[in-house]
Amino acid sequence: MNDERVPPLRDRNLGDEWLDWKGADEPSQITEGKRTYLLLSLAVLVGFVLLGFLFWYLALPRFEQYGSVYSTILTIIVVAGAAFFLIWYAILIGAVVSQRVYLAICLHRRSNLFIMLFPAVARLAQSFGISRDRLSHSFIEVSNRLVGPWRNKNGLVLALVPRCLKKDLKTELKAICADFPNVVLHTAPGGTEARRIIRAINPSAIVAVACERDLVTGIHDVAPKIPVIGIPNTRPLGPCKDTSLDIEKFRSALLFFCKDS
Ligand code: SF4
Repeated sequence: MNDERVPPLRDRNLGDEWLDWKGADEPSQITEGKRTYLLLSLAVLVGFVLLGFLFWYLALPRFEQYGSVYSTILTIIVVAGAAFFLIWYAILIGAVVSQRVYLAICLHRRSNLFIMLFPAVARLAQSFGISRDRLSHSFIEVSNRLVGPWRNKNGLVLALVPRCLKKDLKTELKAICADFPNVVLHTAPGGTEARRIIRAINPSAIVAVACERDLVTGIHDVAPKIPVIGIPNTRPLGPCKDTSLDIEKFRSALLFFCKDS
């Protein structure tokens, strides 16, 4: 017997990210705040620090056998590693809460750590029953707060929208982009095509609209080399079909990058 609430799978061309979609009751819109990713990443960092101290505790007697110089070096490395993680996290919180540009600049070169933490945070989130999409939404919210307006002012801003967006919305976005001389709008049918467009245009900043799954992959690929503001779509009919977005978020993301151009 067919469940009428479940949309048929064959009426859309699913993106790679959604191949596991069963047509079940997925939320059409996710509103997870920054706190989820921030708290879980703190838990992961504290876990790393504790593992570091456990290693130190177990290995110290061995190092002492070789002399106090070696045990002191080990202690310095472990304490410095712990201090680095905790200071990095304090700057992350400062940048996210205050959105101070200088804090975001401090993090800019260290943003790889922010991205590298994602798999460990995702595993922890899963054990708390937090779905990949909820965590990804929270990750994107945090990532957007870390984007600084330091793009090359003569460079292009790429507005990247997915193929699944409703037709009338695409027309509306086209009209908005036409108001910004430095903005080029492209529709990317998938991740590979998006990467090809980015390579060809070499933009100085990107405003990307997509589902959380595609956005996280895209942010991993290009940030922190190119600042990216991600705008998750909403999926009233499920993924990959007639999706929607908050137009105001799109407009303010363009303004953020273009205000001094
Ligand atoms: S961006 Fe749209 S088409 Fe691409 S995977 Fe996500 S929902 Fe599907």
